[in-house]
Amino acid sequence: MLISAIRPSAAMSRLSSEGAFEVLARARALEAQGREIVHLEIGEPDFETPEHVKAAGMAAIEDNYTHYTPSAGIAPLREAIAAYASQFRGISPPFGADDVVVSPGLKPLIWNVLCALVDPGDEVVFADPAYPAYSSCTSYLQAKAVPVPLLERTGFRLDLDELAAKLTERTRVLILNSPHNPTGGVLTRSDLETIADLAQRHDVTIVSDEIYSRNVYGSEFISIASLPGMRERTIVLDGFSKAYAMTGWRLGYGIMPAHIARAVALMGQNTYSCTASFVQQAGIRALEGPDQPVKAMVEEFRRRRDTIVAGLNAIRGIRCATPEGAFYVFPNVGGITPDDRRLGSYLLEEAGVATLAGTYFGAAGSGYLRMSYANSLEHIRVALDRMRAALANFAG
Ligand code: PMP
Repeated sequence: MLISAIRPSAAMSRLSSEGAFEVLARARALEAQGREIVHLEIGEPDFETPEHVKAAGMAAIEDNYTHYTPSAGIAPLREAIAAYASQFRGISPPFGADDVVVSPGLKPLIWNVLCALVDPGDEVVFADPAYPAYSSCTSYLQAKAVPVPLLERTGFRLDLDELAAKLTERTRVLILNSPHNPTGGVLTRSDLETIADLAQRHDVTIVSDEIYSRNVYGSEFISIASLPGMRERTIVLDGFSKAYAMTGWRLGYGIMPAHIARAVALMGQNTYSCTASFVQQAGIRALEGPDQPVKAMVEEFRRRRDTIVAGLNAIRGIRCATPEGAFYVFPNVGGITPDDRRLGSYLLEEAGVATLAGTYFGAAGSGYLRMSYANSLEHIRVALDRMRAALANFAG
């Protein structure tokens, strides 16, 4: 074997990988051997992108929207986002186009926003468990990740006493994610009011990852940016991946005070230059076209949620809370084994059901699995039957 002289930087050792992509690769390898796998690991809607959005994307290519655009995004899309996001969240006076940065998916914005705000040694507070990009980016920037536990008994809402105790004068950013990945938990208005009060008292910037803002099943969606005094200290992140089944198009956005938007757009200019021109055109159509396909997806997700929660609770050793949002359940499997990684591997290999170990999302995920119900009711039922059968033989 050729030994390469190229050595990765020390900084690379501070990056972590996303469990979902690792398990997907293992599941695909089993499929290549002829196994049939039910995919409950990856967080993407199984629906197709709505027809009118696809048509807009194709027409935009025909119309030669195929060149560079401004780094922050084209003005008509930024205007459409500002109008939609202000109306949906009840923001008054409304956001302006200068507050908006468009990007190829929301994920690059997590990086670019943290790069624009955080210096080495600063503290960044977020939930444990949480979406892995938050900790990966925080450690890459040599800042300190400060975890705040989520409470299963309150539907995986933040422990607000712990949060209050963990804010210090070094706290720069508090990342919120409601509805939450991986638990499906949703913060209440009263939670958000307490957090808003803490943020103002400690002069903390809120980065609010609202990618699941359309995926709520109980109450209405509330953005912390809509609370008094919070708009000027909140960066709202959202995108098209989950709401419009557009994961592969790569289209996301952030809304923030204009001077921060300029810094974040500069980061984008230095990395991806701009977001694909025809994708931005399709985004305008998604926001301004019929909303019915989004509502239909949400209704179908609700049916799947109810089926998977009931099915999991009927399995011995599993306890599953009913999540209020996103499209994940986070069953407690501690009654079977505390070793969620071993259980996840067992279910993949023995039952052909791909799930994610809770510890992929942080230490507090120990003893849990994350399962995405962005799969058909039929497949969800097959997965539940297979799990029940395989777990009867699991040697804990
Ligand atoms: N934030 C959270 C909480 C997510 O779950 C995801 C996708 N899994 C993202 C951000 C990234 O979304 P996008 O596809 O827009 O990059």
